[in-house]
Amino acid sequence: ISSGSEEKEKTLAMIKPDGLLGNYTERIKEVIVDYGFSILREITAQLDQDSAASFYAEHSSRSFFPSLIKYMTSGPVLVMLLEKENAIADWRTLIGPTDACKAKITHPNSIRAMCGQDSEKNCVHGSDSLLSAQREISFFFEDVSSGETNTTHDEL
Ligand code: ADP
Ligand code: MG
Repeated sequence: ISSGSEEKEKTLAMIKPDGLLGNYTERIKEVIVDYGFSILREITAQLDQDSAASFYAEHSSRSFFPSLIKYMTSGPVLVMLLEKENAIADWRTLIGPTDACKAKITHPNSIRAMCGQDSEKNCVHGSDSLLSAQREISFFFEDVSSGETNTTHDEL
């Protein structure tokens, strides 16, 4: 018996320190639910230097890296495991472009336009591919299988 749940996809979303500090959590969660995502799991975490550097390892040679690590360790983050069909791409669309300044002009309805400030302080994170979603989900939720098929509902 197929419940159709195997078409669902998981992605990793994060409300960054500026998002939590600015009290945007409830508004962002409203958008998440309105757009049909399920929040399967969530944890609040205070990243330390090593974990932030490891999470953003792909950017370690960039000039903005030290500042990014300082920003990401400046306060707690809210990490969420989201699920829906096409979750990875749809969440990226919903958050908008990296530079929140530009987002306010080009994507005024995006989450980054709503609560971000600039190219660094952009209030939310989203996995950018299936590979990064799998890596990032297991980074925070070690016990979650992050493959393309969803097993959560099959266990019910
Ligand atoms: P995204 O978060 O949209 O996937 P990137 O993966 O390119 O963007 O960068 C990771 C994070 O690093 C961004 O969300 C932002 O916080 C920061 N960042 C990216 N580019 C810059 C930049 N040019 N200057 C300062 N911070 C940046
Ligand atoms: Mg990225």
